[in-house]
Amino acid sequence: MRYAIISDIHSNLTAFQAVLQDIEARGGFERIWCLGDIVGYGPDPKECIELLRQHAHICVAGNHDWGAIGKIDIDDFNPEATAACRWTGQQLDQQDIDYLANLPLIINEGDFTLAHGSPREPIWEYLVSIHVARVSFNYFKTKFCLVGHSHVPVVFESLAPDGECLLHEFPIDASLTLDSNRLIVNPGGVGQPRDGDPRASYAIYDSDHSVIWHYRVPYDIVSTQQRMKEYGLPYKLAARLSHGW
Ligand code: ZN
Repeated sequence: MRYAIISDIHSNLTAFQAVLQDIEARGGFERIWCLGDIVGYGPDPKECIELLRQHAHICVAGNHDWGAIGKIDIDDFNPEATAACRWTGQQLDQQDIDYLANLPLIINEGDFTLAHGSPREPIWEYLVSIHVARVSFNYFKTKFCLVGHSHVPVVFESLAPDGECLLHEFPIDASLTLDSNRLIVNPGGVGQPRDGDPRASYAIYDSDHSVIWHYRVPYDIVSTQQRMKEYGLPYKLAARLSHGW
């Protein structure tokens, strides 16, 4: 089976479509594993939910998914994120709201645990350091864990039961072999990358060969920015897409 691992679409339909087309060109997929934040920041919340739901998929809840529908407090959001969150909530109909409200915090699927932020604090925690990774390995029972939230592709590897752990870059166009060590993998962000590379980031898990591939896809950033401008979304949120930050 081939699984598309995607995270942080953030209402960026152009990026999401580019990712799906890229996967098709690489042999397609059977199922999407989505790590949350379908909405927030970008111009196409409804369209992104609809496109995701057209495919066989599972998805966990992200902070923006629940923030947009008022299920969690967004006091900690910065002013631009708050403005976009309020706007997003106004674009959704009851069906979209019910869908987002019912997303689970954690999904266990075979050898994998899926969470948006971290297995310890699925909604809010950023899993970006070795320190947090060491702790996180104690909070899931499966061999592997997939997270998003930071919008930065990365792989953490647990070396031994004593907690020793390594941070690896997640190389592009290369395969990560799943063997004996436990891993936490972040595929990077589809709709708002933050690692300095503006191209959409995603991964494919090939269960027959026990490998995960990491890919980057260019998309029409200007068209997303134009819709953001048209809908009055904060300038800063549009500008950052050009820089992958
Ligand atoms: Zn996000």
